Amino acid sequence: MQDENFDPIESIRQHLRYASRIVLFTGAGISTESGIPDFRSPGGIWSRMKPIDFSDFMRSEESRRESWRRKFASDPVMRAAKPNRGHLACTSLLASGRATSIITQNIDGLHQRAGVPEAQVIEVHGNATYAHCLSCGTRYELDAIKEIFERDGNAPRCRWCDGLVKTATISFGQAMPVEAMRRAEKAALGCDCMIVLGSSLVVYPAAGLPVLAKRNGAALIIINREPTALDDIADLVVNAGIGDTFGAAVETL
Ligand code: NAD
Repeated sequence: MQDENFDPIESIRQHLRYASRIVLFTGAGISTESGIPDFRSPGGIWSRMKPIDFSDFMRSEESRRESWRRKFASDPVMRAAKPNRGHLACTSLLASGRATSIITQNIDGLHQRAGVPEAQVIEVHGNATYAHCLSCGTRYELDAIKEIFERDGNAPRCRWCDGLVKTATISFGQAMPVEAMRRAEKAALGCDCMIVLGSSLVVYPAAGLPVLAKRNGAALIIINREPTALDDIADLVVNAGIGDTFGAAVETL
């Protein structure tokens, strides 16, 4: 329970003013205000369906088909989504030089669409706005894959090496992207304040990054509608919507 005199916006502002090397760590919760459902909120995606893990995708043609069916069913929502107040606040902190980078678990590309240069976004769970061959890495655009999938109903294969084509995301059981994790760890070790925005902080190794930052002396701020697994080690916890708290704090810095 938060004290009734607690002013979340002012508390966030104080941390923002004090820090000079902020790293933002975002999860699905930052994009719910853009209309993309998260996984673990009540009514989130996993209250409706079980995730398909990487070994199932590799082993079974039916799992691959199901994975593409789900992707194409959810894709119109992701494509229609626009960056919201929380994304724009992140962009503005980076543009001002107070923040150095964003580590995101999100796969929706909304930070880039909110104007953050690619070099400052570290995607630790990949990106769902395109696909690639798991064997040779060739990139495929979703529209082309959808056309083939709807025509013959088979999961797509690489035109060059016949490898399996998958959205460029990291599924459960799949190896983390080495270069993105290296950059994320460097960012976590280099920051003086890490701000978590909209993550339940239960998915590892990503959730280890705020722990790393905190152990290395950074302040840890968590802004999330519900309690998270790392609230106990945070310097500030705000249980509220991101736009109205973090967004408002950045806008009035
Ligand atoms: P999660 O679903 O586990 O947790 C999201 C958290 O955000 C919840 O605790 C919820 O209370 C909070 N939340 C929701 N809306 C909020 C708001 N407006 N303001 C403040 N808090 C809010 O998500 P996660 O921790 O990111 O981890 C799970 C995985 O979900 C990640 O790997 C990510 O790839 C994937 N995912 C991504 C998207 C996306 O790219 N938009 C969407 C769904 C899931």
